Amino acid sequence: MPLTHSDAWQYFTRSSDKKSATCNLCGANLTYMGSTSNLLNDVNNKHQSSAFSNDPQSPMSSFVSTPKKVSASESERITCTTVKD
Ligand SMILES: [Zn+2]
Repeated sequence: MPLTHSDAWQYFTRSSDKKSATCNLCGANLTYMGSTSNLLNDVNNKHQSSAFSNDPQSPMSSFVSTPKKVSASESERITCTTVKD
């Protein structure tokens, strides 16, 4: 089930200049130009499992309160390592 535009702001924080937004889940900084499409793509492509997970061991609040400042590639590597382990 894809996220709707209004859902995007649950996962992103708009920058002060309103031209970009930071992902609360992976810290990625994405261009935001009047459309949340870019933002929703990040969530749908990278975070769909966590976005829809009800796993109490990984609550959304932990991501929101301490966003990781890592690049997308680093984030994916970490995710892969975690999965393999
Ligand atoms: Zn992200």
